[in-house]
Amino acid sequence: MILEVFPSGPIETNGYLLGCSESGVAAVIDAPFDSFEPITKRAKKLGLKITHLLLTHSHWDHIGQASDFKEKLGCLVWIHEADAPNLINPGADRLPLYGEQKGVVPDRFLVDGEEFHIGSLKVKVIHTPGHTPGCICFYIASEKTVLSGDTLFCGGIGRLDLPTGQPKLMRASLEKLFLLPPDTQVYPGHGEPTTIESEIGAD
Ligand SMILES: [Zn+2]
Ligand SMILES: [Zn+2]
Repeated sequence: MILEVFPSGPIETNGYLLGCSESGVAAVIDAPFDSFEPITKRAKKLGLKITHLLLTHSHWDHIGQASDFKEKLGCLVWIHEADAPNLINPGADRLPLYGEQKGVVPDRFLVDGEEFHIGSLKVKVIHTPGHTPGCICFYIASEKTVLSGDTLFCGGIGRLDLPTGQPKLMRASLEKLFLLPPDTQVYPGHGEPTTIESEIGAD
């Protein structure tokens, strides 16, 4: 597995390049502003072909360049259905927008518990509503890795006070993540990586 982070845009949102070293197939997880160029350049250098854009949720800072990945690379764009409205029509979530933002129609809705492959990497979808209704995490068991979006950070959890927040659902979502093996590496939507073990009990 190749996993590289690209903190990008006005609030340092992490876009990730996830590649299968065997097949050369890759996915991008989240598409912050100013991430398209560095990610695509790096993928080219590594000989990776980006086929998918996987979105942890649809807040503006995570979808800023989704349209570039779709239109310029022909990526399939996958998201949870509950977060699709703000991807299709940015601003629908009542958060302020950062400049002009193009909507993107997703190619498929991801559901809790489903698994798919990026090359030979098996990725499992964990639905973790709370920060937004359609927040999802991407779990790669074989690599002891989870991409946690804005649900779980190093030393904290995602904001629940935004218009998209569902504070009552967050506890159960965190408990789902805390069931993963303690040594699972956590790669969040902002900030440094951490492990499940270090964050257990976070609230
Ligand atoms: Zn967010
Ligand atoms: Zn964010």
